[in-house]
Formats: sequence, structure tokens, C-alpha cells
Amino acid sequence: MYETVIGLEVHVELKTDGKLFCKCKNRFGDPINTNCCEICTGLPGAIPVFNEECLIPAVKTGLILNCKISEKTRFDRKNYFYPDLPKGYQISQLYEPFATDGHIDLPRSGKTIRIREVHMEDDAAKLMYENGRTVVDYNRCGVPLVEIVTMPDFRTADEVTEFMEILRKDLRAAGVTDGRLEQGSMRADINLSVRKEGEDFGTRTETKNMASFKAIAKAIEEETRRQILILEKGGQVIQQTMRFDEETLKTEVMRTKENSDDYKYFPDPDLPYITVSEEFSRKIRDMIPELPSQKERRFSEEFGLRDEDAKVICRSDDVADVFEKAAKMSGLNEATASLLLTHIASSEKLPAPEALSKTAVLMAGGKISAGMAKTLLLDVSETGEDPDEYVEKRGFVRITDDGLIADAVDKVLADGDNAKAVSDFKAGKDKVLGFLVGKVMRELKGKGDAGKVRTILLNKLVGDIDG
Ligand SMILES: [Zn+2]
Repeated sequence: MYETVIGLEVHVELKTDGKLFCKCKNRFGDPINTNCCEICTGLPGAIPVFNEECLIPAVKTGLILNCKISEKTRFDRKNYFYPDLPKGYQISQLYEPFATDGHIDLPRSGKTIRIREVHMEDDAAKLMYENGRTVVDYNRCGVPLVEIVTMPDFRTADEVTEFMEILRKDLRAAGVTDGRLEQGSMRADINLSVRKEGEDFGTRTETKNMASFKAIAKAIEEETRRQILILEKGGQVIQQTMRFDEETLKTEVMRTKENSDDYKYFPDPDLPYITVSEEFSRKIRDMIPELPSQKERRFSEEFGLRDEDAKVICRSDDVADVFEKAAKMSGLNEATASLLLTHIASSEKLPAPEALSKTAVLMAGGKISAGMAKTLLLDVSETGEDPDEYVEKRGFVRITDDGLIADAVDKVLADGDNAKAVSDFKAGKDKVLGFLVGKVMRELKGKGDAGKVRTILLNKLVGDIDG
């Protein structure tokens, strides 16, 4: 049996006004080469100046990942040549990254993923290939990124997907990034190797170019399969950079991996140390709201919600807010959650917390059925009416009186339109019972006690057969 070992490097574009070392606009989708200057296009003699606003989303990221924030941090040059890198080096942080030693919990997988470090770096330009030509858009050159480097703690694509989902949700909620994979504002590189259980780590490859969570999962599956096949044939995995092809859904070799020595890293002499005081970190921590992952966990624990339900309810802050207030008012967590989940599946208009709470009380007390509660909640969300008054005014209560139900059943059975269904039932087609129950419920304007309607209807039908 082989085991897959995966580590991630996730690049996240920070949401800021300016770029990392100049004040050019950091904005996706502008006409190409309109947001650039001598610094971000790397003209000789241009001196980069650290844009302090970038430190806010960067430190937020470090704190969200439970990292230690370094009090002093600085930038290094990573030297290489490529057309998307006009100055001939990327400004990154090799020696003194701003955040280290973090972790993130994955509740679904029950695992903790360790974060080795988070560092800042500037993005390269964007190369676009059109009609046999290559176009360079320098708008992206110098855009601030953080790179999150995990330890090789993942074993399955599922764990990676859960990690990425949590990361994206939390970073977006904290205003760090747009987190759009398809636009490249979040990009994950997968370091993957396989080994037989108990053996040392195998040789790893790095896979790039996945624009969705699905593609990430598929790339992991494919690269695992490819490496196992090589080993099974007695071959050796080579340290290479792979590219995931969205069309064929296969991983293919992009280039054979260079050693990190090739970059000739050295501290950037243009950029002084940055000091991140404890007080600054504390202020940033105070700016981070309750994160979706924290809220989901709290809702599961505090209100006893199923994980799946907590996830749906926490998808929007507004929905989560209505739930929390209503559940606290009514004390009926389960009824409140199920009502709200049914409601948001069919309406975009949220009920007021008071209305939701009162409806849950009416339903849990047996005064109205679940079906009636749904109708009531849809109506009062539109009109703003009070649920208790709604029930009072319309006599909107569950009909449990045997006589009233029996009358409705008789009426349905006597109706010529239903004669075929009745004879079908007597001929042994049990399925038509549901149809007849529906007819009786309609007769009772949806307010009949479903259990009683069924029993009384069945007794009458069977009585008829006996007679
Ligand atoms: Zn610029």
C-alpha cells in the first residue's frame, strides 16, 4: 500500500489599494499596462519602498493561521530571468519571513495541519498567449502576495480540499483577499510524493496551474497515480515541476526542478528591516471578526447543530445572525435551524429573528404543522406581520378534530373526480393513498394533522372494502 504525502504552497493576492513597493493601483481587470511605474516594471535605478498598508492583510493572515509574528522581518532577492519579471529578481522573504510556526485545524478530517511559514513577495507580470503571440501585462507586476507554506502533513485530496475551503472562507471574511481561484488571486502549488507505509519520504514533484478545488483534487489523484506507476515499473520519480492540464485532466512535466541554490538569494540592499511591534499585531488581531470556521464550530457546539447545517447557516453572516438571535429567543435550536434551512432554500428574503423564533414556538408546541410553519414564515417575511397575530387572524391552527377531518375525508371520497383513485386503491394500488391524503389536506387548507388524516382516510377506505 502506498501513502501520498502532500505539502502546499498557497499564494494569496492581498486586497490593498497599492502594490507592494509602489503606489500603483492593485486592481484586477483594468486595461493592460495601465497600472505601472518605473518601480514595478523594474527600470534601472528605481528604488522600491515598502507600502505599509500591505502589512495589515499580511499580519492578519499570519494570525488567522495561528503563527508567531516576527518582530523584525526583511526582504530577499530571488534571482532568475523570465519575461514576466522585468527587474531580473523577485522580492521575497527567504531568511526572515514575517510569520512562522502556525497551524490550522481541519474538523472534518480531524487533523491539524502545521504551517511552516508565511512570507510576503511581489507578484510577477501576467503572460497571455494569443494567436501565436505573447502579451505581457505588467499590471500584476508588484501586486502584494503572501505565500503560505505548510508542512507535508496532508495524506489525501479530501484533507487538502478542506484546508483550502477553510483558508479561503476565513481569509475572505477577514478582508485579506478576494480568494478567486479562477482569477488567480489564490493559487496552490502541490508538493507531492508517494511512499510505502513506514518508509522515508519519496522524491516529490511540484504541480501548478489548478484554477479550482476540483482541479486540485484531480491533480492530486493523477499525480499520485503517475508516481505509483513509475515506482511499480521499477523506475524513479524525478524532482520536477508539473503542470496540470485542465483539458486532459493529467499532470505533465513543465520543467525539471532547479535547486534553490540557483536563485542566489541575498537580502535586498534597497529595503530596510520592517518592525512589527506586539502592539501592532494586537491591533490587527482586534480587527479580525469571528471567522466562518470559528462560527461553524461554535454553532455546532453551542446549539448542537449538525456540521452540515452549521456550514449552510454560516455561509452568510446575515443568515447566521438571524439564526443565532432566534435560537436564543426561542430556546428551540433544532426547530429554529430546520425552519430557517427550509426557508432559505425557497426564499431570499430573510425572516426577522422574532418572527422565526415565534414560528418555531408555534410549531414545536404543535399549534401549527411543519408545512404550515413554512407557509407562515414565507408570508410574514414578506409582510412583516407578527406570527401570533397571523395565526389568530386567520384561524391558522392545525386541525386535529376527528369530526372535521372525517367530514373532509367523506367529501373527497364522494367526489367523482377521485373515483378512479379510490377504485385503484381498492384494487391494491397503495400508491394512490398519498394522492388522496393530498386532496384531503387541500380540503383542510393545509392545516390538517397529517397523521390523523392518513389514519381516518385509511379506515374509511378499508371499511369500504370490508363492507
Ligand atoms: Zn508601480
